Amino acid sequence: MGCIFCKIVRGEIPCSKVFENEKFFAFLDIGPINKGHTLVIPKKHYKNLFDMPEEELKGYMEVIQKVSKAVMKGVDADGVNINMSNESAAGQVVMHAHVHIIPRIKGDGLKLWPQGKYKEGEMQTVRDKIVNYL
Ligand code: AMP
Ligand code: ZN
Repeated sequence: MGCIFCKIVRGEIPCSKVFENEKFFAFLDIGPINKGHTLVIPKKHYKNLFDMPEEELKGYMEVIQKVSKAVMKGVDADGVNINMSNESAAGQVVMHAHVHIIPRIKGDGLKLWPQGKYKEGEMQTVRDKIVNYL
């Protein structure tokens, strides 16, 4: 398969590995937002969150928490953003599920996304549409 992250898991492409267990793998992002920016991936190829079976999720979040703590300490960060882009409309470029752990330093100047506004009554309508699918 041509997936770049599958190749990293198999050791066919070099990476700066920070963690590995039976099911998950973590390595430094090659284009860090801040130094220490780390990606955590399932070793098995899933396209994104929607593809991952429920039984994988607890273990995934445990690894994300464990690696986040190490990143925080390792680069002396003040916080982390944990981000996962799902589908290209959300900015997903590599189509193998991955969570970004982005270390944040006080005053690093990174801006959060802009906040919008709902019109009168719109919030309730949107909420009702979502709840329909749960
Ligand atoms: P996304 O936009 O969420 O799909 O993020 C893909 C991420 O993978 C980007 O932040 C890239 O810098 C990172 N990336 C792509 N190729 C490599 C690689 N060979 N080693 C480490 N990180 C990579
Ligand atoms: Zn893959």
